[in-house]
Amino acid sequence: MQNFDQIIIGAGLSGLVQAAILAQEGFKVCLLESSPIPGGYLQTFSRKGYKFDVGFHYMGSTNIDRPLYKLFKNIQIFDRLPICHYEGDFYQVVWNDHRFSIPPSFPEFIEKLQQTFPGEKEAIDRFYKIANSITTSFRWYDLQPEQSYAPPQSLSLPTYSIGQWLEENIHDEWLKRLLGAFSFHTGAGAYESPIVDYCLCLKSIFDRPVWLQSGGDGIVQPLYQRVKELGVDVRFQSPVTKIQCEEKKVQSVHTKKGETFCSPWVISTIHPKQTIQMIEGNALSRIFKDHILDMKESRGSFGVYLSLKKNLSTINPINYLYLVDNPLYEGFYFHSPSLLNRDQEKPRCSMFCFIDSKPFMEFRGSKRGNRPQAYLDLKQKYANALLGDIKKFIPEIEQNILDIYTSSPLTNEEYTGSIDGSAMGIAHNIEQQGIHRPQTFSRIKNLIFSGQSIYIPGICGVIINAFYSIANILGENYLFDKVTRKEHIL
Ligand SMILES: Cc1cc2nc3c(=O)[nH]c(=O)nc-3n(C[C@H](O)[C@H](O)[C@H](O)COP(=O)(O)OP(=O)(O)OC[C@H]3O[C@@H](n4cnc5c(N)ncnc54)[C@H](O)[C@@H]3O)c2cc1C
Repeated sequence: MQNFDQIIIGAGLSGLVQAAILAQEGFKVCLLESSPIPGGYLQTFSRKGYKFDVGFHYMGSTNIDRPLYKLFKNIQIFDRLPICHYEGDFYQVVWNDHRFSIPPSFPEFIEKLQQTFPGEKEAIDRFYKIANSITTSFRWYDLQPEQSYAPPQSLSLPTYSIGQWLEENIHDEWLKRLLGAFSFHTGAGAYESPIVDYCLCLKSIFDRPVWLQSGGDGIVQPLYQRVKELGVDVRFQSPVTKIQCEEKKVQSVHTKKGETFCSPWVISTIHPKQTIQMIEGNALSRIFKDHILDMKESRGSFGVYLSLKKNLSTINPINYLYLVDNPLYEGFYFHSPSLLNRDQEKPRCSMFCFIDSKPFMEFRGSKRGNRPQAYLDLKQKYANALLGDIKKFIPEIEQNILDIYTSSPLTNEEYTGSIDGSAMGIAHNIEQQGIHRPQTFSRIKNLIFSGQSIYIPGICGVIINAFYSIANILGENYLFDKVTRKEHIL
């Protein structure tokens, strides 16, 4: 039996951030991770000397008054990030003959929308006001020390989807498609995505987005170093398999290796369904368990990663979102990080789309490296679809490909434990919003849920949720004051 003050399950972004906050407060922290490396969805992988990001493209909210800056400053990470600013627009959405490039700040984005769609000026203005009123309602998003905020459960916020709002307010089809497409940030389609989650994700990215010299490693490595510096005991290849409870309290946490850990608090940053299934005893009611286990998952992601003979010459060093009519997906992201870092990195690019994970889940249980031919054929079908589509937009790719690698929702489930390989955990959709989502308090006194399923997904959302979760242990006003006090920020 090994005793700690705090046990954290999962060393993805959420677990690493929470380990840093707690260790900084002097707690003896143990971080249990199933993989041999930290990072979860922010991991990178290498093939034949080419390094690829599983998912990372950009992150936002990096200005001095924005959440990512303030929160990372608090755990002394911000100044260690290899941040690079985009030289102009950072993102382009393409639909048929339409192209819209997005400038790297939210007010500039809105201004450009109004210039491009003058007939929709008033509706765009309403959209701007709704987005601002949503983001300034949440204390841990807004982080203004002088402001008073209502508790999240008593906020009266709109409950409709962004798709519904667009249908009722916007006439121009291209503008509808353009704004609707950003629902992908929540891992959902426009009619599934609640306007609250949509706006939080959109603003968290469009407020001063940046890229990082080494992709996802640019966050994970400084965070991991910080956690080690603070004396956190990080145990890799230690998947948690059992959470033993008595009288609605966690007594011990057990790993596959047969180790037992005890602590007054346990924070689980892994998928809540996985956590629930590990809880032994009758600490949770059947109704509550079924409620969580029946929740819908966000879409899975399918990725194609290409090593190239030389850098592409007909595109810009930005992120692209191509909206297409393909039965397998509504659109796909494309970027070539070697264009950003031209002199230092081998030519490569990647693309991914959000898809229904179900066809891939039929092959659950098969061994990596020894999957049935039907699975390989399925992967080939999705890869061919993406390659076929990208060649229409960037024909020079065809002659340039060296090697092709792919990842499916099954790959993601195996590497991150996200059920059905869901890209953003439990679906952030209108049926499961607000109090219907799993909350930070799990109904077991000393077990806290955190990670991308709980609040909003994406880097900024996960970090905000990490602080909000820990505020439950340290005291909300105490932590809020520490995060927002000027001397801590500058
Ligand atoms: C394709 C894709 C692209 C993305 N691009 C961006 C982007 O450009 N910008 C952005 O802001 N966000 C992006 N995101 C979202 C962002 O990466 C995630 O929201 C975030 O990294 C999730 O962090 P997490 O810690 O909540 O979960 P995870 O990253 O899933 O971490 C969970 C950790 O728990 C571990 N674990 C699982 N089960 C166990 C167990 N039983 N015992 C111990 N450990 C366990 C896993 O190995 C993993 O390390 C993207 C996501 C995807 C899928």
